[in-house]
Amino acid sequence: VELKRQNLNQKIRTILPLLQADAMKQDKSIGVELGDIPYILIDRNEIKQLILNLVRNGLEAMSPGGLLSIKTFKDDDRIVLAVQDQGAGIAPEVLEKIGTPFFTTKDNGTGLGLAVCFSIAQRNNAKIDIETGSTGTTFYVRFKTQT
Ligand code: ADP
Ligand code: MG
Repeated sequence: VELKRQNLNQKIRTILPLLQADAMKQDKSIGVELGDIPYILIDRNEIKQLILNLVRNGLEAMSPGGLLSIKTFKDDDRIVLAVQDQGAGIAPEVLEKIGTPFFTTKDNGTGLGLAVCFSIAQRNNAKIDIETGSTGTTFYVRFKTQT
């Protein structure tokens, strides 16, 4: 990996058309709210992979008509990327296993998306928190600030 100062909001804007196309094919939509945040130190390819994996999972978790929201904001000393879906949530027994390579509940899943996300977070000074309930799931990726 090559850690460099990156504009997270700019990264999101760059891949947004790709994500919107994915969403549209599934009859779902994506809302974006990008806050005023400083640069973060991250590998440019890895940040893209991280966003893609979280957004694709969120889209796949929702029924047609669902809205997925991508937000960035500052929270204490961390820069946060939040990906929130309107899916049915993650059951406790599934939550326990996610991030384990090849664990999937999907017929055509690889079970690699979140394993990759967790290792990317580890290499890029970030941690991932998950909030889940019957009305949806939010993945929070909290990056250290780069000044
Ligand atoms: P895959 O998407 O190929 O199944 P992932 O590692 O990306 O592999 O995800 C593993 C499992 O975690 C999924 O099969 C699904 O059960 C669960 N999961 C991940 N993201 C979500 C989400 N946003 N909502 C509900 N379940 C999720
Ligand atoms: Mg996935």
